[in-house]
Amino acid sequence: MQKIFTKPFTQQEAMPEAGIEAVTDLLRTGRLHRYNMVADELSAASQLEQDYAQWQGRDYCLACTSCGYALHIGLRAMGVTAGDGVLTNGYTLAPVPGAIANVGARPILVEVNDHYHLDLHDLRHKAETSGAKVLVLSYMRGHMPDMHQLMQICNELGIQVLEDCAHTMGAKWQGIRAGNFGVMAAFSLQTYKHINTGEGGLLVSNDKHMMAKAIMHSGSYMLYERHGAAPEAEAFTDIRYTSPNMSGRMDNMRATLALAQLPRLEENCQRWNQRYDLLAEQLAKVPGLYIPPRHADEAYVGSSIQFMAQGIALAHLPDFVQACAKRGVELKWFGEAEPKAFTSRYDSWHYVEPQHLPNTLAVLEKTLDMRVPLTFDLADCQLLADIIADVCGDFVQQ
Ligand SMILES: *Cc1c(COP(=O)(O)O)cnc(C)c1O
Repeated sequence: MQKIFTKPFTQQEAMPEAGIEAVTDLLRTGRLHRYNMVADELSAASQLEQDYAQWQGRDYCLACTSCGYALHIGLRAMGVTAGDGVLTNGYTLAPVPGAIANVGARPILVEVNDHYHLDLHDLRHKAETSGAKVLVLSYMRGHMPDMHQLMQICNELGIQVLEDCAHTMGAKWQGIRAGNFGVMAAFSLQTYKHINTGEGGLLVSNDKHMMAKAIMHSGSYMLYERHGAAPEAEAFTDIRYTSPNMSGRMDNMRATLALAQLPRLEENCQRWNQRYDLLAEQLAKVPGLYIPPRHADEAYVGSSIQFMAQGIALAHLPDFVQACAKRGVELKWFGEAEPKAFTSRYDSWHYVEPQHLPNTLAVLEKTLDMRVPLTFDLADCQLLADIIADVCGDFVQQ
């Protein structure tokens, strides 16, 4: 009998009970706006900034509406203006080029290699030919490149790095957390990331001038002194009249939900990796599939898995994805020319100057992606691997 997977790929774990209670208490006060506080009480949004800055190991943290928004105001705070070239990965999620477009800047796309990492040769080449001085480094689907080499190149060429850590909250390279390499870093609290508040973003930095600007942009009115992990008031003196309010604050309800999940983050990262490692081990054995090995220095968080269908003809990949779907296994194909749901290829961003990235295209054409929600247990992961292996048997060329 054919095995079928029946669990939904979109189901998340319930909010911790303590979080549900805390939100209920908050709702009873009606004080949902982050600046709607009594006396010198710290709002939940400010508390989240304080706790996350400490967890992350950065001086400053700003809670806002989304990771894409955090990237956008991060770029502004770093001094990027209209017409500037901004380097970024050719393989990333649409909000990343969107954040660059939001400041009127021009995304300059850098190739990714078959480990889903930014290609450091192409980074150097594109930086030198374009003169761009800012890199939005996207750890798309949680893959961290050799950060030592990458930062060396960026330092040498005078490039400032803004890290897109949407999928690397909790990940590390050589023991250093993702988000602690660049001058600024953005995290996502959107449902499919590592803390789930529906929507939400965190921007972190050790640079007080940049953070002061970002806080002004986020819509702090003149209440920046009420923030939980902000630079001292004098950092705002020179910029408070010149930094437009681009309204994108976090509210206390979402902050309360994030605060309830933060103590479990470390443990959840381990739970993701138990699932990821089982899947990776099983899928690596399937003839025709290839899983790029991860570097020993990379402590990843496997909240999704990517693999390459080396043994399946390109023309048959859509059928393969459909055959898996029929058995309950939801795969996304990054090679799809037409953008679908959350995935899109860089050439579908028509607002970006046309650019040709042959290596990235070759990698994406072979790449399949599967979400690994924590509502799946290890037996589920084994079943998923069995079904994929089974379907692969019908498609892989002999
Ligand atoms: C989800 C995601 C984002 C955007 O996060 P939002 O909070 O939805 O704006 C940016 N980059 C990557 C790689 C992502 O996966």
